[in-house]
Amino acid sequence: MSKYCILIHYHEISIKGGNRTWFERHFEDNVRLHLKSLPFETITTSSARVYVFGIDVERWNEYSKILTEVMGLSNATLMHQQKAELETIKIAAQEMILRSGKEFENFRVSARRQYKTFPMTSGELNVEVGAYIQPIVNKPVKLKGAGLEIYIEIVKGMAYVGVDRISGHGGLPVGVSETAVSLLSSGIDSPVSSFEMIKRGVDLTYVHFHSAPSTSRQSIKNVKKLLKILARYQLSCPLHLIPLLEIQQKIMSESHDKYWVLLFRRAMIRLSCMIAEKIDAPVLISGESVGQVASQTLSNIRATADVGDRPILRPLAGMNKEEIITRAKIIGTYEVSIEPYQDCCSFFVPAHPETKARLNIIQNVEERIQFGDLFEKAISAGEFEIISIN
Ligand code: ATP
Ligand code: MG
Repeated sequence: MSKYCILIHYHEISIKGGNRTWFERHFEDNVRLHLKSLPFETITTSSARVYVFGIDVERWNEYSKILTEVMGLSNATLMHQQKAELETIKIAAQEMILRSGKEFENFRVSARRQYKTFPMTSGELNVEVGAYIQPIVNKPVKLKGAGLEIYIEIVKGMAYVGVDRISGHGGLPVGVSETAVSLLSSGIDSPVSSFEMIKRGVDLTYVHFHSAPSTSRQSIKNVKKLLKILARYQLSCPLHLIPLLEIQQKIMSESHDKYWVLLFRRAMIRLSCMIAEKIDAPVLISGESVGQVASQTLSNIRATADVGDRPILRPLAGMNKEEIITRAKIIGTYEVSIEPYQDCCSFFVPAHPETKARLNIIQNVEERIQFGDLFEKAISAGEFEIISIN
């Protein structure tokens, strides 16, 4: 067995009490699936840590990049594994500094001790290892904001020593929090709202509405590209592509243009609830943020939401555009979201859409539209595919 391994700490799972084993199993399975394309021998969970053994240490950069995309991960460290003895720990620390090739002006040692029969406290270990390393690297110790941190973990008679650590997004492992239907446009916001829910462990099914052939199929291509990115976090993203054009044409022929956008939105919610019903998803997710555009006033949010039989979660409700863009860049969706496309709503949008819709007026207008079986038709004309990480 290689003396190197990756030691992973998860984020919130440990607080889940009785469900802990179940959460751990999800997390461990997800780590295994994410690392599928890289060599490893075993992945095991013990003492609230996940260990990846039998890795190719030369490919740490590849492992670490992928691991940042595993939801629920707090941090992952490339470790040298050996018996928990002071002398071997010192030598391992020296070796790991050398192999990382890191440049630094000062350092610190951060030991954690799960194995309480180890004869030294964490503090004593920090001092001993620090005193050994200091003359070798000829750099001072600095406790706050050190340029290099040497991590030592003593667990079950073994010591793990490393300096290369990455942080993840935290949250919960995908798959522990039921499913939801996420309304995905190819804009900036909805990929971010989807990500925030993936991070809460929710397994999302996506729905995208398009107006082809009146608009080009570009938005569909963009949505698939976005899901290729979100699949890095979710692994597998089911997508429903639903044609909205006939319903939109009906709305446009039978109502005043100032209500169109709201009625389109209500149609989207109604169709999304039909999909949610089929897959037994308790909620919908949307990327609305209050006041961001004229259609996202509180009154309009109310006027669109009452149509469905499911709550709509809006993870971005209180964020401003700048914050959302920053998130989109971190997640990696921003570049695709700013590619041009014809939005199914804005393509037909009138000059003065309703910004403070009265719920009862919208309901009255909608009631008079003869939709017939257009909703069922749209659902059965939908295309479905699963977009996966590989
Ligand atoms: P986004 O950047 O997500 O497109 P936006 O600021 O452009 O959001 P709107 O166009 O008003 O806002 O859409 C609000 C929300 O409605 C979107 O975040 C998304 O969840 C949903 N939505 C809008 N258009 C579509 C669509 N064509 N398909 C699926 N969902 C959509
Ligand atoms: Mg949009």
